[in-house]
Amino acid sequence: MSGARTGAEYVEALDARPIQVEIEGEQYTGNVSRIPQLRNVVRTYARLYDLQQEPELRDTMTYASPASGDRVGMAFLQPQSIEDVARRGAAMRVWADYSLGNLGRTGDYCSSAVMAMAAAGDWFDQGEAGFGDNVRRYYEHVRENDLLLTHTLIFPQANRAVGPSQQKDQALAARIVDRNDNGIVIRGARMLATIGPFADEILVMPSTVLKGGADDAPYSYAFGIACDTPGLRFLCRESFDLGRSRFDHPLGSRFEEIDAIVVFDDVLVPWERCFVVGVPELCNGIYSETSAAAHMTHQVVTRTRAKTEFVLGLISLLTEAIGIEQFQHVQEKTAEVIVALETCKALARAAEADAAANRFGLYTPAWAPLNACRNWYPRTYPRFLEILRQLGASGLMSLPTEADAFGPAQEDVERYLQSAALDGPERLRLFRLAWDTCLSSFAGRQALYEYFFFGDPVRMAGALVASYDREPYKERVREFMHRED
Ligand SMILES: Cc1cc2nc3c(=O)[nH]c(=O)nc-3n(C[C@H](O)[C@H](O)[C@H](O)COP(=O)(O)OP(=O)(O)OC[C@H]3O[C@@H](n4cnc5c(N)ncnc54)[C@H](O)[C@@H]3O)c2cc1C
Repeated sequence: MSGARTGAEYVEALDARPIQVEIEGEQYTGNVSRIPQLRNVVRTYARLYDLQQEPELRDTMTYASPASGDRVGMAFLQPQSIEDVARRGAAMRVWADYSLGNLGRTGDYCSSAVMAMAAAGDWFDQGEAGFGDNVRRYYEHVRENDLLLTHTLIFPQANRAVGPSQQKDQALAARIVDRNDNGIVIRGARMLATIGPFADEILVMPSTVLKGGADDAPYSYAFGIACDTPGLRFLCRESFDLGRSRFDHPLGSRFEEIDAIVVFDDVLVPWERCFVVGVPELCNGIYSETSAAAHMTHQVVTRTRAKTEFVLGLISLLTEAIGIEQFQHVQEKTAEVIVALETCKALARAAEADAAANRFGLYTPAWAPLNACRNWYPRTYPRFLEILRQLGASGLMSLPTEADAFGPAQEDVERYLQSAALDGPERLRLFRLAWDTCLSSFAGRQALYEYFFFGDPVRMAGALVASYDREPYKERVREFMHRED
């Protein structure tokens, strides 16, 4: 245990883990940082760890562990005040800004869930005595070792008309197939683990949105295990990092987080890693009752703010580059993004300013603005991409590569791709970034991610309506209808 890690320490530990990864027909065990499709993103994640060590960021990114006194990541801080919540937000901001909001699964996302669950440890004892201690010990383990966590929450998309227990193939959805002295045994699959192959640990948790019933007991569990636990495999989608240069694929060559199907071939989960076993009601409440959802969404709103700032900067440079800023519809579209950014900032600020202690004494950002943000952004982000396409037009396809621009086609690029504000190569660099934001396979995946990663927005909207106290507003209308003045 040594607290906040460097990038080199992260990579060394990752490579030493015999994680089973299948990607594009190849099977690998360990040495993940050397897998061609993952090499670049692992390097990016290593850079995030290095940021923790930079002298001017040390106090923003880390704090002294109450257990060891070592510096540990700020995402593990259990806030005792509104100021502590803001400190967490400031650290999240550094990582979010580094990727311009394009990395969804920086360590602060899942660490925030574990941090909140540990503060609510006693709640887990309702399931089985001692599970609260399991959560608390797990939190200390990931905090003191600065481990990178991912999570997997969803059952395979086979037949959504019925739950996991009624699927035709009973071997499909990951379920508890045995309980023994050592732990529980899990067989089947889960969808989807972003960053799964290069994380240290995976949280296997209930859905944030879907609720289980009595039939779902074998599918109702929460636990955290190492990504190299025997029997665990990550079956990846094809990579959108095509090994091209930073110039050609500025986002895909850095921030391709990969998504993987998680296969459990009779994975033994030791009892000390179990948080909930076989209790659907507890699974249904885990995020709201422990405030894990609020702390995770704090990271989300911080990241979406960084991403919106990026989109605004990009649109502004693009419209300036080709001299279209003065057109009214261009200004109207730019204004849409400005309004979105201010909305994001206001929601983030309200969540932090209105933070309050939950019933376990953990200061927690206000849920209402966070819930509004997580319902609003999935519908807002696709509009940004549409605006970029409408404003970039054929410029998003007049895109020779770096090899052309600095090779045989140099003169053509300099002459025919020059623009009002930029020379040919700089304009090409800018438009390739715009393309990687709104049109490339990397961009398509980002759009799908922003829409779905927190759960189906349709059902999130249903949950918002069901939980929002509208009674005062109904009463106001009723009162008005009968007013005599
Ligand atoms: C890029 C990306 C990364 C992701 N990363 C992760 C991750 O790291 N960890 C993780 O656990 N999950 C991850 N997810 C999965 C995410 O949690 C799910 O996409 C989300 O919960 C929706 O579930 P689904 O994809 O199975 O869609 P489905 O539930 O199969 O829905 C498909 C369609 O059917 C509709 N539908 C289905 N059932 C109903 C119903 N009962 N009522 C109304 N409409 C319904 C939906 O509205 C939707 O339009 C990721 C997803 C994406 C796209």
